Amino acid sequence: MSFAIAVDGPAGAGKSTVSKRAAQKLHFVYVDTGAMYRTIALYLLEHDVDTEDEEALSEALSKIRIGIEYRDQTQCMFLNGEDVSDRIRTPEVSQGASVAAAIPAVRQKLLDLQRSMAAEADVIMDGRDIGTNILPDAQLKIFLTASVEERARRRYLELSQNGTACSLEEISREIEERDWRDSHRETAPLCRAEDAVLLDTSDMTLDEAVDALTQLAKERMS
Ligand code: C5P
Repeated sequence: MSFAIAVDGPAGAGKSTVSKRAAQKLHFVYVDTGAMYRTIALYLLEHDVDTEDEEALSEALSKIRIGIEYRDQTQCMFLNGEDVSDRIRTPEVSQGASVAAAIPAVRQKLLDLQRSMAAEADVIMDGRDIGTNILPDAQLKIFLTASVEERARRRYLELSQNGTACSLEEISREIEERDWRDSHRETAPLCRAEDAVLLDTSDMTLDEAVDALTQLAKERMS
């Protein structure tokens, strides 16, 4: 049976960076489920789909084909055959993903894909509802978080390094808005699973957070 590590937490907590590094150390496959929501959001934004119009949404979802490929251990996202890995990383798509992720039909579309990936390999899967909903039997669940200030600061640095113009206040507001929406939606809201280990990385370096996760995984595997 495969081994699954579920990593959930709010926006900008460092889930993807920490999970990806830990996956390399443990020789697990890293699965970024946020990227899947972002890919759907990109399609909906580019095709101006009214997400409140059930029929239009359902038609749009039927036209979306999501592809995932791993290149140099990096998860690349394909939307109807086109590599959209870079285009899904804008603040506009972040907000769009959080709006789309509140819609049950959107979550349903991704559920089987996420579960089947975990069935096929040892995974570290990050998202918002992995430990609570997608992989309730994961052998290790982590709730990774950090203060809003620290998360905004990290996201600001990341976007600035990529050359995206942004302000710290704006990012802070966007993160809080997204967290609120993600944790107050009816379907699979962001929340800590009862059996998840809390990892607050506010005062941790990246290496310390990776070591903490890797250590917990090794303990569970032995
Ligand atoms: O993790 P990331 O910031 O890329 O996720 C983008 C958005 O996708 C989140 O704000 C959230 O609304 C949604 N999401 C989700 N469930 C997941 C992963 C992401 O609702 N498992």
